[in-house]
Amino acid sequence: MIHPFDLQARAELAAHALTALLDPERDGLMYFLANWRARPPRAEHCLWDCGDGSGRHIDALTLVRSVLRPDSPEAVPDAGEKQLEAWMMRFLGDHGLTWLLNEPFTQPWGTDMLLKEAAGQTSAAETYAEISWAQRGTLLGLTSRYLATGDERFKAAGEHMVNGLLSLAQKVAGVGLYFPEGYYRTSGWHFHQPGLYPGIEEYNAAVIVPAIRFYRATGFTPALDLADGLLTYALKHTQGYLPDGSLFPGEGPNKGQGTLDHFHTRSNFLLGVLEVGIVTGRRELVSWARQSYEHAKAWGTDFGWFPEGMGHRHGETCCITDMIEAAILLGRHVSRSYYADAERFGRNHLIETQWLSLDQLNRATAQLPEDTGAAPFGGIYSRTDRVAASQIGAFASRATLNDAFHLDAPAMMQCCNAAGARAIHDLWRYATDGLAIHLRFSVETPALRVVSHEPARGQLDITVRQDGPVTVRLPSGVNDALVAGNGNVQPVTARKGYIEIAASAGALLSVYYALPERTQYYEVGAPGKAASCTGHWRGETLISVDPVGELYPLYQRSLDLPPVVPALPSVPALPTLP
Ligand SMILES: [Zn+2]
Repeated sequence: MIHPFDLQARAELAAHALTALLDPERDGLMYFLANWRARPPRAEHCLWDCGDGSGRHIDALTLVRSVLRPDSPEAVPDAGEKQLEAWMMRFLGDHGLTWLLNEPFTQPWGTDMLLKEAAGQTSAAETYAEISWAQRGTLLGLTSRYLATGDERFKAAGEHMVNGLLSLAQKVAGVGLYFPEGYYRTSGWHFHQPGLYPGIEEYNAAVIVPAIRFYRATGFTPALDLADGLLTYALKHTQGYLPDGSLFPGEGPNKGQGTLDHFHTRSNFLLGVLEVGIVTGRRELVSWARQSYEHAKAWGTDFGWFPEGMGHRHGETCCITDMIEAAILLGRHVSRSYYADAERFGRNHLIETQWLSLDQLNRATAQLPEDTGAAPFGGIYSRTDRVAASQIGAFASRATLNDAFHLDAPAMMQCCNAAGARAIHDLWRYATDGLAIHLRFSVETPALRVVSHEPARGQLDITVRQDGPVTVRLPSGVNDALVAGNGNVQPVTARKGYIEIAASAGALLSVYYALPERTQYYEVGAPGKAASCTGHWRGETLISVDPVGELYPLYQRSLDLPPVVPALPSVPALPTLP
């Protein structure tokens, strides 16, 4: 078993898992979904294999491989990654979009809400381009690949997709752009007005996040036009916000408002608006996104659990990643106090919901109520071979507060595996900035090495490799530290959460601080469908929760852990966030 706070070991396991659930009979086409309640657990092909899953996986694999220990066996791409990349590129087609395969298992979801008159108007030859998550996932993958390799193929494909999306968007002079349906078809749009379904303008703006990242990576200004047009229109027309700016709560779990009660839609949108605001210097966008982030936080917990949908008591890892990235961006550009959120979300629910034990996972799935239904399509698009084993290093998609499973929604989704892996990268990559230590994980960069003793005790051992003051964020509420170095020990007081220590290259410092203990009660969900727990904290680490989860219990953390010793990755850090 790996050290639970070793981000590099977690990244290595995540990389392994991201290529472990492929279909050898279909050139390594991934299985996006799996049914944990089938015996044995059964992976299923579905439309999200195409574009969303393939793109997110390539994005995540590119990022996690950039933070591994140099001697890691996962430091170089494996055969599965090459197959996933080939699929990502093969799905690209007309208008530069990523298209769904024309197969029985890729039939669109949500035809009643995301498409006008889906039935009766389409021919068997009609193929679909899912316009929201598939374009988003693929443009994320193309952008990260281009950042890491400089290969012009990825840039050209991204430009082609951006141009295609711009040409197909409905344009409203002076207002912006929108995509009217959830799927574009070979026969074109069948609906040309906004409001086909509540919130679709915001749902279909998902590509804002990779569009602004592609613009930063390449300078391709149409990508900025796409992001700006989509967010301007959605901000004006979405029904997702109440007059006070809080998130429209939906009408209760599973009562519809489909796109509006989907938390990942909301967190992804605020992340995109934030990033566009930062990159373009538009403070009104940053301000709006900061306000929405605060409202979004109210739907989750301070240890990083966020719901799949408004009022749900099971979560979704994709939402944790959005909120970590938003917190990091706010920390970098608005106030360093937001790093406390990133640390709590990352140190707790993100890493705690990564599957580390096959025995424990097998025990948990054996306790789920069995789904005795037949496999879809007679099983020809399914895999039952070693599905659970493939997920070690992957993430519990839909954890509740104290358990990696909740019976409300036990199915597996690989979007969350890619998102979780991306967030592990983010925690490593943005824990430090030069000689500033924002997140107190063990990390190493060319500027410094940090060995963290948390949660056993409040201690960081810092090897400084360049001249200049070292700054360290202490746990929230802690203002005093002792700094040992150069043969003496001195007390230091924090200003706005950070201590500053004069140091020069070659210095070895140890910082000692308190890890205050506290207890907090949490309740999430909706009346009659709530989940609650009491959490016991030590500094910014959630150590245990009551009651203990019944299926795959979370937060049974040891206080008696040695520190993690990091190693400098062999590849340069990627500039993934502004
Ligand atoms: Zn997800």
